[in-house]
Amino acid sequence: MSATPRLYVTPDLGEGLEIPVDSDQAHYLTRVMRLAAGDPVRVFNGRHGEFDASLAASTKSTATLKLGQQTRQQQGVPDVWLLFAPLKKARTDFVVEKATELGASEILPVLTERTDADTVRTDRLQRIAIEAAEQAERLDVPRIHEAAKLPALLASWKPDRVLIYADEAGEDAAKPWGGEAGRAAPAASGLEVLKAPAAILIGPEGGFSPAERKRLRELPYVRPVSLGPRILRAETAAVAALALYQALAGDWRS
Ligand code: SAH
Repeated sequence: MSATPRLYVTPDLGEGLEIPVDSDQAHYLTRVMRLAAGDPVRVFNGRHGEFDASLAASTKSTATLKLGQQTRQQQGVPDVWLLFAPLKKARTDFVVEKATELGASEILPVLTERTDADTVRTDRLQRIAIEAAEQAERLDVPRIHEAAKLPALLASWKPDRVLIYADEAGEDAAKPWGGEAGRAAPAASGLEVLKAPAAILIGPEGGFSPAERKRLRELPYVRPVSLGPRILRAETAAVAALALYQALAGDWRS
């Protein structure tokens, strides 16, 4: 990992331009990293690739960067969203950080019947995604959507986006883990042929209700998948499903 600070900024980027950074970033550059005028920084904005830059001027709470050469062309991530039922604060933070590292293109908190979450602070989660993108050398930052209820999300779903639904249960309510009948196919089978935009849906700690599972399985664009013979915590399932998607259908393929 390079010691040169790497920052997500919002202004347009181009060689020779001078751009301001926000006060938190100014504090980080001058107080935490102790940069002096002329010291190197790298910046990206999600639109114009990545540029070398140097600290041009600073006060305690402001800083200006002078942009040098472009170091990378803009490049996106595979079009795969992560939909997840928000968890307790630290676990939600973990999901957002890891999903950003793993290249989710957008992140949508979904409120399900059994969602048991602290309030979803979208602005906080967006900051976590920015930091993760800076550290991961991403050239864009996934948008964190406002939390929405599952039925509302499904009602406005564009059916060309395949919804890969992580479904751990079988159909038999009397059996532990829903028994063997009605189990979803293993997640690896078939994902490699996915060309369509996709989304991965992970449920809350309590799982989806029987009514939610039924509704999801009826929808033509939903593909229920199993992540194996052990119950994963929701955050583990999110990481596992995204990794599998990137390996089989996304940008981990050569
Ligand atoms: N219903 C379970 C636990 C849910 S685990 C219970 O209460 O015991 C939380 C979420 O992670 C699930 O809704 C599912 O989306 C995902 N998940 C966990 N393990 C999984 C598996 N083996 N296969 C598919 N999805 C899984």
